[in-house]
Amino acid sequence: MSQGRVEIDQYWRTRTINEAQLQGYSCLRLTCGCGRITDYPFVLLLQRRGVTRHSFIGNIRFRCKECGGKDITIGVRSQAPSLTR
Ligand SMILES: [Zn+2]
Repeated sequence: MSQGRVEIDQYWRTRTINEAQLQGYSCLRLTCGCGRITDYPFVLLLQRRGVTRHSFIGNIRFRCKECGGKDITIGVRSQAPSLTR
């Protein structure tokens, strides 16, 4: 894991979903130690029990669907550019 990714991970763990959305991001990008990458849209995240837009991202538990591991690195992703203008 590169140092940059660790810093990004630490940064986002102390932010809320609301802050990420205000910065224009629409998904969490979860990267597992096994190499699996999952984009998790905030709208889906907000449907999870106990999760609100003011939840700290670092307080939400994630598990890899591939290996069941919990060693997940958190990043963010903005929505794909809209084709309609
Ligand atoms: Zn995994």
